[in-house]
Amino acid sequence: MQLDCDVAVVGAGPAGSRTARDLARAGLRVRLLEEHRAVGVPSHCSGLISPRTLREAEIGEEAVIHRLTGAFIHTQEGGEVALGGSATRAVAIDRVAWDQTLCEQAQAAGAELVRARMTRVERENNHVRLTAQTDGRDWTLTARMVIGADGTHSRVARTLGLPRPAEYAYNLGIEGRISPDARAKWRDDYVHVFVGHDLAPGWFGWIIPVGGEIVRVGIGTTGAVKPIVAYRRMAEAYPELFAGLEPIRMYGGTIPLSFAPRSYSDRALLVGDAAGQVKPFSGGGIYTSLVAARLAAVTVREAFERDAFGAKSLAAYERRWKREIGRELRKSRHLRHFGLAMSSAQIERLVRALRSPGLQALTDQHADIDYPSKVLLRLARSLPALATLGAVTVRRPRAALNLVRAHLPV
Ligand SMILES: Cc1cc2nc3c(=O)[nH]c(=O)nc-3n(C[C@H](O)[C@H](O)[C@H](O)COP(=O)(O)OP(=O)(O)OC[C@H]3O[C@@H](n4cnc5c(N)ncnc54)[C@H](O)[C@@H]3O)c2cc1C
Repeated sequence: MQLDCDVAVVGAGPAGSRTARDLARAGLRVRLLEEHRAVGVPSHCSGLISPRTLREAEIGEEAVIHRLTGAFIHTQEGGEVALGGSATRAVAIDRVAWDQTLCEQAQAAGAELVRARMTRVERENNHVRLTAQTDGRDWTLTARMVIGADGTHSRVARTLGLPRPAEYAYNLGIEGRISPDARAKWRDDYVHVFVGHDLAPGWFGWIIPVGGEIVRVGIGTTGAVKPIVAYRRMAEAYPELFAGLEPIRMYGGTIPLSFAPRSYSDRALLVGDAAGQVKPFSGGGIYTSLVAARLAAVTVREAFERDAFGAKSLAAYERRWKREIGRELRKSRHLRHFGLAMSSAQIERLVRALRSPGLQALTDQHADIDYPSKVLLRLARSLPALATLGAVTVRRPRAALNLVRAHLPV
């Protein structure tokens, strides 16, 4: 039977476009299905990435709209610490242009972009059949394999019965304009991060300057409080930062905070948010989805070389991405859970301890937004942090296990 293509990739976000690009470059016939009329629109992202991510994406400096060198951490009790230095730690990107560039790279390599919403995927004898909808009309597509790069609520995962991530953060993001007064008080190369169990239960709030008077602000929670309610509280608690903020655009989005128990099955791989490949400490998923996409493409190419599309053969994908980023994701998840077990007073003490010159130097040397466990584990072993961590360990021994697990090599 003549199939419509070799690989059907569902979703033209970073994960899907990068997978499609690499597979098309390897000579495979790829269809890239995207439900939105314009790729990347609307954006549901703050667009903060590491400089390393530019290299991983093979996108140049033209994508960068602003450079960030540090962060102010604010606690709900009013504590504040500045961490950072002069080196660029992160860059803000135009996320719509970013997604479109990646998709254009995939098309230039030979992938065919198709505007369609995939509604169902079924396995048949030696292929998969996707049902898709364009302008209300159903049609089908056959392929040797399907890649589910269709984001957090992955329909590919759900229709194939793949287990979903266990934990999510629900977010509200606002792109806005700040007043000249507020701007004069700011360092526009520092982000602001707001933490506190009452302020942003389970997650955190943020302000990211992206150049000039424009900022991206937002807050997430793990469900106890609606993000809009948390946002109002945050804006009230920090009037000096939020007063006069004029919203331009609002968006919401769900971020998986743990990876899916399985990212492969017969003739199918999940990549990016669909597989929960997101950094559990920050919710950043652009870097991790690109790494996973590269490894998915390597595995799919091998599957075609061997004509082996079963789960056993595709399991190599999961081994690969876990080797490269899975360890960090696991460590960060344990560290996050340890942080959640700390009382507000303990968080406050820890943040104040971070002002010590020794810890400032340590942070400056080891901070890495893609691999936060590097600096967090060093901080956990440092003298000023030990008293606080010891207190958590005594009061919440189960939580302390997370710290032990985060230290384990695997
Ligand atoms: C508020 C917020 C702020 C964030 N900020 C950052 C940040 O600063 N830095 C960072 O690194 N990450 C951030 N993230 C996370 C980041 O946006 C994601 O991790 C990243 O987009 C994952 O890429 P992806 O390709 O896996 O999924 P997505 O970018 O979600 O792409 C999935 C694509 O699939 C399409 N699709 C879905 N279903 C179907 C279907 N059935 N048929 C056809 N197409 C379909 C969608 O339209 C979409 O284009 C943020 C997330 C949120 C919610």
